[in-house]
Amino acid sequence: MPVKSVTVRVPAKVNLQLSVGPKEADGYHNLVSVFQAISIFDDITIKLGEPGSGLTISISGDQTHGVPADANNLAAKAVSLISKEYDLTVDAHIEIKKSIPVAGGMAGGSADAAGTILGIDYLYSLDMTREEMIEIASKIGSDVPFMLSGGTAIGTGHGDQLTAALSRGTYHWVLALSTVGLSTPAVYAECDRLRGELEIVEPQTHEGLMQALLGADAPGVGAALVNDLQLAACSLRPAIRLVLDVGQEYGALGAIVSGSGPTVAFLVADQDSGLDLAVALTSSGVVGSVAQAYGPVAGAKVIATN
Ligand code: ATP
Repeated sequence: MPVKSVTVRVPAKVNLQLSVGPKEADGYHNLVSVFQAISIFDDITIKLGEPGSGLTISISGDQTHGVPADANNLAAKAVSLISKEYDLTVDAHIEIKKSIPVAGGMAGGSADAAGTILGIDYLYSLDMTREEMIEIASKIGSDVPFMLSGGTAIGTGHGDQLTAALSRGTYHWVLALSTVGLSTPAVYAECDRLRGELEIVEPQTHEGLMQALLGADAPGVGAALVNDLQLAACSLRPAIRLVLDVGQEYGALGAIVSGSGPTVAFLVADQDSGLDLAVALTSSGVVGSVAQAYGPVAGAKVIATN
């Protein structure tokens, strides 16, 4: 029997390193981004519709604020690119069950786009190769290819040219979430403004971080976390500084603003110390909400079909 519906589960990411090069002539920055996929997931269910019904999208779950249910949704962009490339008419409904914080620097929209690529490929038996999926993914956004692969990876170029990072062990995270997101373009613009005329060197992979990941050395990873956008995110949202301070005080191994923020990710020794920190952050009153997660986890994968 032909498959009528598919559900793809796709993780969020945190950055372990985000190094931002000088602004290029095209307005973009070269990046070195070390991503880790973590155990907070969106589920994307794609159901075949009647011929001629077109594409519809609905959003559900606890993280829906500000997520467009129209052509602006990155899932719709994925469908549109695949339709053109494979001369495919998609008549389907996409339901996105969101748990990944919106505009939180955790690549939620990119995750949904990656999940949609995998789901459409499955539903329409396109038999896309990994390379073909990655090509479509990088046309949508620089974080999208990573959400297909998951694990731990180094992104160069605009962050989308991926190589797997040699990483051992499991890392435990406490995430301080904000109720109001930060716009990624606004944070890059603030980073450029703060840098002014400073000479900025091309970004390099952080060797200390790579060694620590290889050695399953969580304190070493904690000490090596680095994000060049952190200053800009704190400048636009000074409360992030308070959140970082609480985490340091309660013994996190390290802290980093994830991507362009405002989510702050704290690396902790284990789940129990994560719980202590989560309680401290909640009672401090400086965070919207707190989540615990671990990584690395796999990228987008099909979890159900019908
Ligand atoms: P990144 O970490 O990749 O910079 P982010 O996690 O900060 O991104 P997203 O959650 O991806 O931010 O959302 C940024 C904006 O993208 C949202 O405010 C929303 O307007 C738009 N958007 C489009 N599609 C989606 C989607 N499927 N999920 C969430 N936001 C989406």
